[in-house]
Amino acid sequence: MKGVTILGATGTIGTNTLDVIARQRDKFFVVALTAHSQVERLAEQCEQHHPRFAVLHDPRAAEQLQRRLHTTCPDTRVLSGEAGLCQVAADPACDYVMAAIVGAVGLKPTLAAVRAGKRILLANKEALVMSGEVFMRELREHGAQLLPIDSEHNAIFQCMPADYSGADAAGIRRILLTASGGPFRALPLEHLMLVTPEQAIAHPNWTMGKKISVDSATMMNKGLEVIEACWLFDLKPNQIEVVVHPQSIIHSMVEYLDGSIIAQLGQPDMRTPIAHALAWPARMASGVKPLNLFDITKLEFLRPDLQRYPCLQLAHEAIERGGTATAVLNAANEIAVQAFLDRKIAFTSIAVTVEHVLAKMPIAAATTLEVIGNADQHARCCAQEFIQSQARRAGVL
Ligand code: NDP
Ligand code: MG
Repeated sequence: MKGVTILGATGTIGTNTLDVIARQRDKFFVVALTAHSQVERLAEQCEQHHPRFAVLHDPRAAEQLQRRLHTTCPDTRVLSGEAGLCQVAADPACDYVMAAIVGAVGLKPTLAAVRAGKRILLANKEALVMSGEVFMRELREHGAQLLPIDSEHNAIFQCMPADYSGADAAGIRRILLTASGGPFRALPLEHLMLVTPEQAIAHPNWTMGKKISVDSATMMNKGLEVIEACWLFDLKPNQIEVVVHPQSIIHSMVEYLDGSIIAQLGQPDMRTPIAHALAWPARMASGVKPLNLFDITKLEFLRPDLQRYPCLQLAHEAIERGGTATAVLNAANEIAVQAFLDRKIAFTSIAVTVEHVLAKMPIAAATTLEVIGNADQHARCCAQEFIQSQARRAGVL
């Protein structure tokens, strides 16, 4: 039996993880479930899975949860704050940590799990994007294991040799990172600035949280994934080619020197990579219905249009610059996406904001968490100021 802590249990990835675990009760038990502030949802999950700990980042919400669970889950200890998240990520009873908090706020709890030498199931790509060098160093130092949950990276992992130690040694020519192109792939460019948050979060193939859905529509998600792949598989950005594949059936491919391309195919359902990473190196059922090849009428592959997806270009520039540039990119994007969801800026202003912040911020070597944290905070302020100044100008005009 393996003990599992789920950081971000109430989200899309967290819920899918619990669904997989519920089908495999003889193999896994839940040590801790965490969320930000959704009391009712987390309480229902606790009543179903009876974890040792439940954590809400928000202390007021944690008090409500404590009262709510008093009679139904008397053995579940309720904690709060970042300290609570970090504590359960490192708890001795837990073997595996699903890192599925959205955004930079997931970094510290995920690193706590790394430092405790756990198996990390990484969905929270923002953590790796902002701190890649430190994250990978800590992983090695503490003997932790990193398994990718992001469907593309999980696919790449599955298409690589088991003893992978670098692209050259494995005879890999390049990685083909697939992207759906999001909901606006075929929308006339001049309509992009008028799209609403509701349209942006309605992804054609996947059901996901709001932030990653907007990132998919701008293709910043693919940019973050290029950076994620560079760290996970020790690759240079020019070893990764983004391929738009609207059907989301092939989840990514690895091209070898001999001309072979190995692909991983499956339903667009996150329970497949989740079950893969939980069971690895074995395999187990995930609840995903089998892919019927006879239902697939076509598989298309297109080059990404950088005019439509400027965020992809910005992410490429950030990884080429290195250091804190990727933390700055990520922070500016988080602020801009929230402003778009709050209807303060247009969809097309997300890329404009990120570009502005990247041009303005000094970039340093990202060798400590302190430097990374400072870059993250300054980039957030810079993005907020830019958004406010744009709003003031629009008001004057
Ligand atoms: P959701 O928005 O659905 O869920 C986010 C989770 O994080 C919720 O449990 C939320 O709690 C919690 N959370 C948010 N803010 C905080 C905070 N300040 N402190 C503690 N917990 C917090 O996101 P997804 O599940 O879609 O995505 C999670 C991560 O996985 C993201 O990094 C995303 O990029 C990545 N990912 C997701 C995929 C998907 O298919 N959904 C695919 C590949 C990667 P609460 O409910 O209380 O707000
Ligand atoms: Mg992905």
